[in-house]
Amino acid sequence: MSDASPSTDLFELVGQEARMAILRALLSARRESDDPHHSFTELKEAAGIEDTGRFNYHLGRLVGTVVAKTDDGYRLSRYGFRVLAPMTAGLYDPDTTVDGIELPGTCHECGGSLRVESEENSLRVVCRAGHTVNEGIFGHADVVADQSPEEAAATLGLVNTQATEPGVSGVCPKCHRRREGEIEWLDRGDCYVYRAPCDGCGSRFMATVGSCVATHPTVACFLADRGVDVRRRVPWTLPFRQAGAETVVSEDPLRLRVAVGTDVADDPLQVTVDREGSVVGVDQLAEGADGPERR
Ligand SMILES: [Zn+2]
Ligand SMILES: [Zn+2]
Repeated sequence: MSDASPSTDLFELVGQEARMAILRALLSARRESDDPHHSFTELKEAAGIEDTGRFNYHLGRLVGTVVAKTDDGYRLSRYGFRVLAPMTAGLYDPDTTVDGIELPGTCHECGGSLRVESEENSLRVVCRAGHTVNEGIFGHADVVADQSPEEAAATLGLVNTQATEPGVSGVCPKCHRRREGEIEWLDRGDCYVYRAPCDGCGSRFMATVGSCVATHPTVACFLADRGVDVRRRVPWTLPFRQAGAETVVSEDPLRLRVAVGTDVADDPLQVTVDREGSVVGVDQLAEGADGPERR
């Protein structure tokens, strides 16, 4: 039905009132019904565009990228849903603020209690004295706006795990491209960090050395056996994930070690990583033994 050529520029696609009306109508169809499709006529009516020629032109610009045309009608394409869904879920609403949800754990600088607050619609974890414990990774304020402290902490733990695991494994958490990362010294933090900038989307992923090992199977099992689900724990409540928790085993080649579980075990797991952030050794002092037992 439509004869205009599709655009591939997302800014051009959504930066026009008629096109946004069409996309909103398709997003509503997806939210409010099991059938995400609209016929040409239904979609024209739902978008509130009376002029058929005008509607047809703008629809044509969308089909093939953010809108798919199928035998059942028009619907958002998978790509369209992925890029547009967060906007309609109320996320990125500039009016959403979060203030004063208390969180578990303490500030690593002053020991004070923590809370989550929002700035530029992005979440940040701070202590009463104003030290920033964590920022950047958690995204928009709506994620925890109506949650209890326990729910908010579990949500932030899961969101963090979801972003950190690909981030330290060679995949950009934002755009999912493969890119290189490595551990380097960070002067301003006075510690080592894992850094993996992404040329594709411009994301500047950074994680503590402990975060590189957090979801390693042996580490996750060791903690699970001691009642700690590493996926659901916000990182700052795990001592080994804090900045500067590493010790230097050797500088060339770089080998860093973090002690996992110092708060829950008398015999913490000693985990060694290389410059790429890969785990190259896991040792535990076995009870009654004189030396480390290699697992
Ligand atoms: Zn503090
Ligand atoms: Zn990226």
